[in-house]
Amino acid sequence: MYQQFGISDKIINLSKEVEKEVEPVFEKIQKVCEYNSLKVLKAFQDNRISDMHFNQTTGYGYGDIGRDTCERVFADIFKAEDALVRGQFISGTHALTVALFAFLRPGDTMLSITGKPYDTLDEVIGITENPSSLKSFGINFEKIDLVNNDFDYEKIEERLKKGNIKLIEIQRSKGYSTRKSIKLVDLEKVIKFIRKYDKNVIIMIDNCYCEFVNEKEPLEVGADIIVGSLIKNLGGGIAPNGAYIAGKKNLVELAAERLTAPGEGKEVGPSLGITKSFLQGIFMAPSVVASSLKTAVFASRMLEKLGYEVEPKYDEERADIVQNINFNDETKLIKYCQGIQMGSPIDSDSIPEPWDMPGYTDKVIMAAGAFTQGSSIELSCDGPIRPPYTAFMQGGLTYEYGKIGVLKAIQNME
Ligand SMILES: *Cc1c(COP(=O)(O)O)cnc(C)c1O
Repeated sequence: MYQQFGISDKIINLSKEVEKEVEPVFEKIQKVCEYNSLKVLKAFQDNRISDMHFNQTTGYGYGDIGRDTCERVFADIFKAEDALVRGQFISGTHALTVALFAFLRPGDTMLSITGKPYDTLDEVIGITENPSSLKSFGINFEKIDLVNNDFDYEKIEERLKKGNIKLIEIQRSKGYSTRKSIKLVDLEKVIKFIRKYDKNVIIMIDNCYCEFVNEKEPLEVGADIIVGSLIKNLGGGIAPNGAYIAGKKNLVELAAERLTAPGEGKEVGPSLGITKSFLQGIFMAPSVVASSLKTAVFASRMLEKLGYEVEPKYDEERADIVQNINFNDETKLIKYCQGIQMGSPIDSDSIPEPWDMPGYTDKVIMAAGAFTQGSSIELSCDGPIRPPYTAFMQGGLTYEYGKIGVLKAIQNME
């Protein structure tokens, strides 16, 4: 069958070799998947999920039992006091925006200790001017860069001693940078450190791409609030849009009052029939995340053997589902992304080209042959057209589909 996709014997043979090598890594991924699946099932059973929770409400959405119970399920899985899980959130960016506007007030300072946050937050924060930014409301932003892929403890201490920080944002996944993603042990360590100087500062985690990669989640190591997208890990490829915010009850309430209206909060918001997709999505998520991880591990070893720089290496501990490949060559990056598109179920005959995307300084190429627009829990690959010509690849609803995508991409570079 692989020959029918135009994959050469040379690449097929290499893939057989690689699959043997990565077996112990796959086993570890499977263990985490098993643990997280049990965690999800327990939350479903404890909340006695039944057919009636697939109900839908319209209009104001008062008394939506399905929506409210689905939020309980998410809260239980993430050891949160409460959760807000809504289709009224467009995606992760929107949920992060709502959270920041909900927690911060004029004169407050937000501090990022993982350097500049994700690109789509530039205009939200006001790093790029926008008349609706946090900055336009008089909210200050400061950042401390990572040093050698770790937190800059010295600078963090110095800044916290000066006081007056309302919120610390920690972005676990690397975004479009080439730093490493933040592991849970490192997160735990820095949160303990922060608490020595400030008991009250809100510790908010951008958890995009990291859910279910490990057995524990950030709230279990002391974070106050986590935010993530449902067209990534937790949607399991089934949720058609949406995002979540989970953590301390008072913070979730503030976020709800910002998303809807003060005085209405979580009580409103029609589910419009989306609850079943959210529940089915999170039910599938542990196994879909495992498939994405296996696809990333397979790609990492294949490309390393072909002589490319990869991050992480196949046997490194992972904090997210993203795989970086440095091609150090513009054409190779473009060919690889185009090959990923060719291996997709949707729009496999479209050829992505680099273009000037709003919000980015360099041209970007994006491959995504996905059922859900922009969904990056489905196999997808993108890269800014600048040295070292790095591809950021993530997703894979099943390992089998992920694997053929990677093989097709490698073949396309030949
Ligand atoms: C994807 C991503 C976001 C934004 O989420 P969307 O669902 O794409 O809006 C924010 N932060 C990080 C680290 C991400 O990877």
